[in-house]
Amino acid sequence: MSESKAKDLKEELFTKKKNAGFILNENDIKEADDFCKGYMSFLDAAKTEREAVCEAVNMLEENGFVEYNFDKDLKSGDKIYINNRGKAIIAAIIGSDDVSKGFKINAAHIDSPRLDLKQNPIYEDNQIGFFKTHYYGGIKKYQWTAIPLALHGVIINSKNEKIEVKIGEEENDPVFCVCDLLPHLATQQMKRTLSEGVKGEELNIIIGSRPFKDDKESEMVKLNIIKILNEKYGIAEDDFISAELEAVPAFKAKDIGFDRSMIGSYGQDDRVCAYTALKALLDCNGVPKKTVITVLTDKEETGSDGNTGLNSSYLNYFIYDLAEKLGGRPRQVISASECLSADVNAAFDPTFPDVLEIRNASKINYGVCVTKFTGSRGKSGTSDASAEFVAKIRNLLDSKNVIWQTGELGKVDLGGGGTVAQYIANLNIDVIDVGVPVLSMHAPFEITSKIDTYMAYKAFKVFIED
Ligand code: MN
Ligand code: MN
Repeated sequence: MSESKAKDLKEELFTKKKNAGFILNENDIKEADDFCKGYMSFLDAAKTEREAVCEAVNMLEENGFVEYNFDKDLKSGDKIYINNRGKAIIAAIIGSDDVSKGFKINAAHIDSPRLDLKQNPIYEDNQIGFFKTHYYGGIKKYQWTAIPLALHGVIINSKNEKIEVKIGEEENDPVFCVCDLLPHLATQQMKRTLSEGVKGEELNIIIGSRPFKDDKESEMVKLNIIKILNEKYGIAEDDFISAELEAVPAFKAKDIGFDRSMIGSYGQDDRVCAYTALKALLDCNGVPKKTVITVLTDKEETGSDGNTGLNSSYLNYFIYDLAEKLGGRPRQVISASECLSADVNAAFDPTFPDVLEIRNASKINYGVCVTKFTGSRGKSGTSDASAEFVAKIRNLLDSKNVIWQTGELGKVDLGGGGTVAQYIANLNIDVIDVGVPVLSMHAPFEITSKIDTYMAYKAFKVFIED
């Protein structure tokens, strides 16, 4: 007992949540820092959904997972994965419990905002070569000018051969760039609103400037570029029509701060949860009681529609088929299942305090963030997790010493956003958002805390091991 009754009562009754830097010892912090080295390599290797699937397949196969198509029988301890069109992946470990008790799912997304090339991208204007782009996901367009861009993706040629493209990542690779206007001549542009400061049709990427030597013909810069592409990839102009090429920031993941406490990188929404959820599955201790599933999905940033997005039936089909294969009644199994929607939240930024309500905003270094609901205004477009399920997750995290916080995305009237949680909830699964707070979300260079990232990994791991 201290001399102050009020102090004792506060100690007993008030929340004890605080910066994890005050809670963790040096060893814990080193563990988090070491864990994040692997994460940062993943960020550099997996800048697109296709590359994330490739990396995931490598990691899964190294850990004994095999590709599966429901042809063979399954037994507890089996490790399988299903690759959905090279852009989404589901991996699972078959549990030992009665299948009717349901599955445990961690679901993250591996697509990130970027500049896609249009299907007729290449042109020449005043003897400079360009690609036309169509942005993907929610971006602040001005952020994508005057930074080095790399080009990733695939081209399927007229013989149906797949050509992989990845240029701008190696030390000696060329990079590409969207130009912006010099301030000296930007008087009119500066009067535009921030959202119109650079318009969608102005996000044109510079790709060359030297003409093919024949001054009797026109479009010699474009010809010279296509000639280079033809020599390098064997393609002609029409092959872009059947291509998916994504311009992404060319820089690599870096430590941020003198104390190296944070990570700066492109694509952390949501590869920070994709990597941690995948690692949690790979590191799952022994054979889990319930069958555990990690889903890395595509198309979250455009609303989850499309056959590689979670609003399609591919996860549903997988759970149904797996339930049947294991001798369960699919509808019973799916209804008994539980899911963590592994996605990021907006971290409180002291430079822009007005958009978040400080008592209910996530803060970096306060641990993994549990978000009861997303959506906008009056909770539209969301799954609102039940108090019962929130309690279950909260008590689990507390009992396993996972440092966590709660937070919602912005002030009530201000905006909002969604995750895949609603699509999973619509399958009649209990689901809640759990993920890492991010500063500068959707910018070409996003910031997370190493401790929060490590706590996300721990949260996804204790959830499937429970
Ligand atoms: Mn996200
Ligand atoms: Mn996002």
